[in-house]
Amino acid sequence: MKKINIAIDGYSSTGKSTLAKALAKELEYTYIDSGAMYRCVTLYAMREGLIRKDAIDKDGIVEALGEIDIDFVNENGDNLTRLNGEVVESEIRKMEVSSLVSPVSKIKEVRETLRKLQQKAANSGGIVMDGRDIGSAVLPGAELKIFMTADSEVRASRRYNELKAKGVDVSREEVAENLKTRDELDTGRKENPLIQVSDARLLDNTCLSTEKQLEIALSWAKDAIESRK
Ligand code: C5P
Repeated sequence: MKKINIAIDGYSSTGKSTLAKALAKELEYTYIDSGAMYRCVTLYAMREGLIRKDAIDKDGIVEALGEIDIDFVNENGDNLTRLNGEVVESEIRKMEVSSLVSPVSKIKEVRETLRKLQQKAANSGGIVMDGRDIGSAVLPGAELKIFMTADSEVRASRRYNELKAKGVDVSREEVAENLKTRDELDTGRKENPLIQVSDARLLDNTCLSTEKQLEIALSWAKDAIESRK
C-alpha cells in the first residue's frame, strides 16, 4: 500500500506527539518530532554560552549550526532524541529549554536548516511529523494534515501532570505561562508562524480520550491512503 506523509501541527501541549507516535505505530510509519530538533539547537546554544539571561547571540547560533547533528534512536519502543550522539531526551524537555526554544526558533537560518533536514527525512514517504509549520512549510504536499487544539486550561493541566510525573519541580502557573508565551511567539513570528492551513483537518481534543483521537486520525489516514492509491 502506498505510504503517505502525515503532518500534525498545533498549539503547545495539545497532545501532538502522543497522537503522532500512536498513528506511526499503527500504520508502521516513522515518527519525527520536529520540536525536539528546535529544542536540541536551543540546548546546544545554552551549553555553548550563546544564550545568557535571555540575550540570544543570534550570529553565534547561526555559526554553530554546522556543529549540530541531530538524530533519533529507538530504544525499547521509545523514540529518543540525540544531539551529537548524546541522548538528550530528558534534558531538552526541561523548563529552561522550554522557555528559550521559541525565541531560538524565530531565527530564520535555524528554521531553514531544520526544515531541510525534516524534508530530507520525509523524502520517501511513510512519515508522521509533528510541529508548528509542518503542513504549511515543511511538508506542504502532505496527503493528510491535522491541526490540533484544546482548551488552554486543559492543556496546562495535562502538561503540569506530565512534568510532575517525571519528577520535574515546577508550578502549574509556570507551566501555564510557558504555554501561553510559546503560543504567542509561535503564532506571531515572521518566519513560518503556526497557522491552520486551509486543507488541514481540525482536531479539538479538549474532551477526547487518546484512544478516540487515534480512531479519528486513523480513519482520516485511511481515507488519505485510499485516495492516493
Ligand atoms: O513541539 P514542542 O513543544 O516540543 O516544540 C518546542 C518549540 O519549538 C515550539 O514552541 C516552537 O517554538 C518550536 N517549533 C517550531 N516549529 C516546529 C516545531 C517546534 O517553531 N515545527
